[in-house]
Amino acid sequence: MVAEMTEKIKDLKSRKRAVILAHYYTRPEVQAVADFVGDSLALSIEAARTQADIIVFAGVYFMAETAKILSPTKKVLIPDPEAGCSLADSCGADDFAAFKKQHPEALVVSYVNTTAEIKALTDICCTSSNALEVIRSIPADREIIFAPDRNLGSWLKRQTGRENMILWNGACHVHEEFSLEGILALKAAHPEAPVLAHPECKEPILMVADFVGSTAAILDYAGRSSATEFIVVTESGILHEMNKKYPDKTFIPAPPVDSTCGCNDCAYMKLVTLEKIVAALETERPEVVVEESVRSAAERSIRAMLELNR
Ligand code: SF4
Repeated sequence: MVAEMTEKIKDLKSRKRAVILAHYYTRPEVQAVADFVGDSLALSIEAARTQADIIVFAGVYFMAETAKILSPTKKVLIPDPEAGCSLADSCGADDFAAFKKQHPEALVVSYVNTTAEIKALTDICCTSSNALEVIRSIPADREIIFAPDRNLGSWLKRQTGRENMILWNGACHVHEEFSLEGILALKAAHPEAPVLAHPECKEPILMVADFVGSTAAILDYAGRSSATEFIVVTESGILHEMNKKYPDKTFIPAPPVDSTCGCNDCAYMKLVTLEKIVAALETERPEVVVEESVRSAAERSIRAMLELNR
């Protein structure tokens, strides 16, 4: 079945001059059919430079929207439009506009895990890969609103020593659910294994981590490190790429507080299946549409970020 779907996707892709971009958190078989697999930053860059006519975005909605914002003349398809994001949902546009009004002098830095409307209210976007660089590029005396992830925002404050950052109170349900006790137990059982954590995790978890970084930085660290075992504290989809890249190393997923809930998996990312990719390519639907005034304002904040990464 997987082989049949994979062949079908290959055929449809070449007939329609389509490209599939997939996030590391999607299902392994989805990552396997993608032309490009990456984290949010790498996917944004790829979406901006692809020459394809159609982009199929195997990821969550805000990522597909980002692709459309950067490539407005291309058709961007999302295999499942219900693939949302609890972090993006924690920051509504009306509430955020009111919050911004309370701090009129502040520069707004938003994570790309936001809707197009929030990006349109933002001065410069960031991802977990470049958030430190973005914050450090802003003059030290300038007040900053950081949205929407409070854990990443707090981590940035600690890393940069900046007190003038005002944080929006949002969070990702996956990264909030990791169990400190579970991680400490794994550490005791595997004393040589470094703990690699994503900065969207809560502070106590980041305190016991040996390395904190984006999914791309975690992958890179695992490759450079001489350790052979690692405890991985981020969405479990990343393990597919880790095992593929470093087959001689062992990656142990950190457990969530409730070991029966499967909440170290992003349920939204897992909504993308091979069947839905086939259907999207066949019907060229569902298509992502962003209203032009929102798109152009959102594009400015994403381009401001991409300029820093040149
Ligand atoms: S892992 Fe969290 S931040 Fe990432 S897409 Fe899923 S809900 Fe959103």
